[in-house]
Amino acid sequence: MTPAYPQPGVDLDNARFIIAWRERGRLVLQRCRGCGAMIFYPRTMCPGCWSPDLAWVEASGRGVVVSYALVHRPNHESFNGEVPIILAEIALAEGPMMIARIIANNPATIRTGLSVKLVSDVGRYPLPTFTT
Ligand SMILES: [Zn+2]
Repeated sequence: MTPAYPQPGVDLDNARFIIAWRERGRLVLQRCRGCGAMIFYPRTMCPGCWSPDLAWVEASGRGVVVSYALVHRPNHESFNGEVPIILAEIALAEGPMMIARIIANNPATIRTGLSVKLVSDVGRYPLPTFTT
């Protein structure tokens, strides 16, 4: 039997992000009401203007691959049957960069500049996961 995926810790800063993904399969980001910056990862103040006035907004779930790696030796046994894991830096359509997994039948099709979108399997993956 394959062990369950490791789960991210939930705290006051990231709860909206984790729950939106876990329960609705949606990616939410923060937008600074002070300067308008879109922010990822979740935090308590804007990294640009230090305003604590942040709003949660739903992202499109679309992005473009900036860089990627194929992980052949995962750090948790739940991934052993799924190697190679495609781990990518993704430029989200809203601006922020995000490190996330990409699910693809053929890892050789992944390349810089490739458009990706969120997977639609709500509840399957512990963090936002993309596909081609
Ligand atoms: Zn700001």
